[in-house]
Amino acid sequence: MDHLWSPWRYQYMEEVSAGNQPECFFCDAIARTDDETTLIVFRGAKSFVILNRFPYTSGHVMIVPYGHVAELGLCEPGALDEMMQLAQRVERAFQSNYKPDGMNLGMNLGRAAGAGVVGHLHLHALPRWFGDSNFMTVTAETRVHPEDLSVTYTRLRKALTT
Ligand SMILES: [Zn+2]
Repeated sequence: MDHLWSPWRYQYMEEVSAGNQPECFFCDAIARTDDETTLIVFRGAKSFVILNRFPYTSGHVMIVPYGHVAELGLCEPGALDEMMQLAQRVERAFQSNYKPDGMNLGMNLGRAAGAGVVGHLHLHALPRWFGDSNFMTVTAETRVHPEDLSVTYTRLRKALTT
């Protein structure tokens, strides 16, 4: 799982160390109101869905509680329930828009586990297709995301809000 979700985080960590990113980009995205720029596709009551700016596959999103907490035990009551309800909606959105062969759903809690954003837990959800990881091995640094982020944004926002 670390291998699967790690490619984008190196770029992110470089931007953080270069001072180009806020301390917590989830909290920053929540505070800003321009969801199209921050790539928030859906805001729930206690958690939200945001596109991964450095996706492993097209449709790669993160489901995130509004609270800045690093551990499951620190989430406010109801936030985790809503995250799983959002995962259900994301699953349906993937099925209707991307016709995947499967789906990865998971969390990296803490730096040792491979978390890219250490202080603010988040649940990755991404559609998978037979052969996508083989393709990745062959092309080394090339990630499998042929779809433009703005296209993904429009598709998933529509699917999640209707
Ligand atoms: Zn945060």
